[in-house]
Amino acid sequence: MSQELKHPHPIKADQSSSFSGKSGFENLSIISPKLTPQTSIASTPLPIPVLDSLNDEEQKNKDQRKRELLPDELPVVECVARARIPTTQGQEIFLHLYSNNVDNKEHLAIVFGERIRSKSLFKQKPNESQADRMTRGAYVGKLRPGRTIADYDEITKETINFDDEGNIIPEQLPEEDIAKIVRIHSECYTGETAWSARCDCGEQFDEAGRLMGKAGLGCIVYLRQEGRGIGLGEKLKAYNLQDLGADTVQANLILRHPADSRSFSLATAILLDLGLDQIKLLTNNPDKILAVEGKDQKVKVVERVPMIPLAWRHANQGIQSQEVDGYLRTKIERMGHLLSKPIDI
Ligand SMILES: [Zn+2]
Repeated sequence: MSQELKHPHPIKADQSSSFSGKSGFENLSIISPKLTPQTSIASTPLPIPVLDSLNDEEQKNKDQRKRELLPDELPVVECVARARIPTTQGQEIFLHLYSNNVDNKEHLAIVFGERIRSKSLFKQKPNESQADRMTRGAYVGKLRPGRTIADYDEITKETINFDDEGNIIPEQLPEEDIAKIVRIHSECYTGETAWSARCDCGEQFDEAGRLMGKAGLGCIVYLRQEGRGIGLGEKLKAYNLQDLGADTVQANLILRHPADSRSFSLATAILLDLGLDQIKLLTNNPDKILAVEGKDQKVKVVERVPMIPLAWRHANQGIQSQEVDGYLRTKIERMGHLLSKPIDI
């Protein structure tokens, strides 16, 4: 399951532009990234990795150096509401909405399985009624007309226990359920809502949901960091630069943005709030594993589950476009993603 796939033809830095001699972008000076205030939460932009053959020891040292760039402290997050969402796929999910102390965006956790519970949501609050708790979504079992107690479901007999300080005492899960499937997904309006075939975000999101639905347990942490953190407006400008011949990394650098300005420390904090400290991470991005584990590795990625594009697995399925081929090629060649198929464009 967790086999590590490497690109068969490592690419050296000086060969990495697939546009040399074609577009003129190779002559543009790369402007050093402009750090915006938003990046202070952590987003130390990681340098663009160049794939090379490192032995285990060298790889460990390299990972350690990257880990040291991560923020010392995690953001403080609080789940302010949760609701059950029946889905068109048949599987119910629990949508958790989070506030935090580093930005004013509504980050989300899409949780599969009622037994994954948020510590901050369930924490007892002074003078709070059972009706208040049910309204926030801090209940066990299922809501139904006439129900009056949040902490106990009379029909299913489920109950929750609290310690003296009003913190939920987590349920002991069977061994096989301890490590849950997790995907950290960054919002992509174009790929998820506007049917874009420039990237594979919509497909990856659907595939993550399908796998978690099948397992009955799992969590997609949905971060509101559109366009690798640069926002939708800047992403649209980057698309125009791509149509003019730049690749996705070059386009961001020309716009004075880091190649990737996302931060994953919010995701780490949300996972810890949900008690998900051992996870099977769905990703092809080795830097995401480090980033999600965080500096102190409070979250442990026990397995990496690769996300293979559908179009590579089945003819006539998935996204077929020249743009998505270029996007995936850049991920592999410029950003060190662990996908094995060489793409000819
Ligand atoms: Zn996308």
